[in-house]
Amino acid sequence: MDNFYTEVPELKFHLNNPMMKRICELKERDYKDKEEFDYAPMDFEDAMDSYDKVLEITGEITGQVIAPNAEGVDQEGPHHVDGRVEYASGTKRNLETMVKAGLNGMTMPRRFGGLNFPITPYTMCAEIVAAADAGFGNIWSLQDCIETLYEFGNADQHSRFIPLVCQGATMSMDLTEPDAGSDLQSVMLKATYSEKEGCWLLNGVKRFITNGDSDIHLVLARSEEGTRDGRGLSMFIYDKRQGGVDVRRIEHKLGIHGSPTCELVYKNARAELCGERKLGLIKYVMALMNGARLGIAAQSVGLCQAAYNEGLAYAKERRQFGKVIIDFPAVYDMLSIMKAKLDAGRALLYQTARYVDIYKALEDIARERKLTPEERQEQKRYSKLADSLTPLAKGMNSEYANQNAYDSIQIHGGSGFMMDYACQRIYRDARITSIYEGTTQLQTVAAIRYVTNGSYLATIREFEATPCSPEMELLLSRLKKMADKFEAATTAVKEAQDQELLDFVARRLMEMAADCIMCHLLLQDASRSPELFAKSAHVYLNYAEAEVEKHSAFIHNLDKEELAYYK
Ligand SMILES: Cc1cc2nc3c(=O)[nH]c(=O)nc-3n(C[C@H](O)[C@H](O)[C@H](O)COP(=O)(O)OP(=O)(O)OC[C@H]3O[C@@H](n4cnc5c(N)ncnc54)[C@H](O)[C@@H]3O)c2cc1C
Repeated sequence: MDNFYTEVPELKFHLNNPMMKRICELKERDYKDKEEFDYAPMDFEDAMDSYDKVLEITGEITGQVIAPNAEGVDQEGPHHVDGRVEYASGTKRNLETMVKAGLNGMTMPRRFGGLNFPITPYTMCAEIVAAADAGFGNIWSLQDCIETLYEFGNADQHSRFIPLVCQGATMSMDLTEPDAGSDLQSVMLKATYSEKEGCWLLNGVKRFITNGDSDIHLVLARSEEGTRDGRGLSMFIYDKRQGGVDVRRIEHKLGIHGSPTCELVYKNARAELCGERKLGLIKYVMALMNGARLGIAAQSVGLCQAAYNEGLAYAKERRQFGKVIIDFPAVYDMLSIMKAKLDAGRALLYQTARYVDIYKALEDIARERKLTPEERQEQKRYSKLADSLTPLAKGMNSEYANQNAYDSIQIHGGSGFMMDYACQRIYRDARITSIYEGTTQLQTVAAIRYVTNGSYLATIREFEATPCSPEMELLLSRLKKMADKFEAATTAVKEAQDQELLDFVARRLMEMAADCIMCHLLLQDASRSPELFAKSAHVYLNYAEAEVEKHSAFIHNLDKEELAYYK
């Protein structure tokens, strides 16, 4: 691919979503920056044009630089030199090119040197970078940690750190420890305030930290001595120039070789508190992880696209039994489902990103002035929607990335098992997406409350009232029946009043909700652009209807006695 943006017309379609008008209005505060910055947009059209141009530049860099470097980076990987990380040579070239193009600190306000981009077009950039090289995608996308520093840091911290990130300083989020993975409440890295030094000192070990030798770290640490739960944790900013953190090792991994995964040793590392004490996990890391989960959803969609591209290209070329293999129903079945999962997952990703954009922009405005009652309501509504859709977007897309990568190899036959084809790298790279930033099981833990409190069902019923094109009406009526099955299954499980049973079927319920929501989004997309989405709307609905039926039957047949067989 020469340009990872212009050659995927679905991206421009999502950029041009009607909600962007409101997003731009809020993000640009009625376009007031135009007085101060000559590159700030004059109006909505101008803003959209600038997003489109930046996406085109990103698409070109991914096509011309990042994708051609991907195999070399995968083979070389990063180097561990004297307690530091040295990137693979291709990674260095990628990073230099992105920084030179001004693609860092993209979402930050212009006064700090950012582009004031909404999350939605920024997420599109993250998707296309990951489609070219998911490992490099991590290093570049971790710039979005700055969102959390912007939200919870003070003015002095803003002025010292945000401009650095806009100029290309890299970031990492240091949460995981050997005994604290999914359960971050168990974090024990110690933070002690030193009166003598006039700062906090961090001591302990973090493991599996992506880009662990970055310039600026956000660190979760235990600041309250004697505590053992999440309420004793605070968030700190560690600036590498202070010293005190060494990279003990870089992990050898199955995939994303370009992304250094580090074990870090903190020895009296000088750090500063970000926000208030004790809110580290409860508030700040939750916000940080929600952003990062959207990032992994984008990485997953990029991988879904890459897997599809490779599978499609091979299927069009490879001949067996006297014809190209794409003409075999078994092969075009796989390809059409891959494309449908890609389109459905992408629709969910950008719907979530738009919700995030609206509530975050309003949250930011609330720091400048009091919101009107209508704005406060809007903020609450979109914040709730964003929170409920984020685990679905991360959970479903990461599973689809794995499934598409698997099918891409299948389409390649024996060649897919050889290291000569890109599909093997995509397969290895995709595997981590359903593990980090919270495993799929932990996304389910986050999502299940929105099943039981009726949020997903309310969202689905609201979508049902949205008109679709006449061609999509038959699908809409089938979709309503799917939602009825989801509702009946939820009611049955709730009526059983058994927490273990609920936990056991939680993933199935989450998938039923996600399938209904993604079908609705695809139906709406196909109503606006049948040439791009009608096929996927049909294919995905057929697929999702069978999935919902399967889960419904499973849940229907399950009771306490049946559950005992699983233990
Ligand atoms: C390549 C890579 C990069 C990473 N990058 C970072 C990073 O930048 N920063 C960072 O802080 N961390 C990072 N991590 C850590 C990552 O987020 C954790 O590995 C992940 O959250 C899972 O934790 P764990 O490995 O301890 O697994 P565990 O928590 O031990 O989980 C093991 C299994 O148990 C299941 N499980 C655990 N708890 C529950 C539950 N309550 N309900 C249901 N099932 C459960 C899990 O789903 C999983 O299947 C990275 C990891 C890897 C491999």
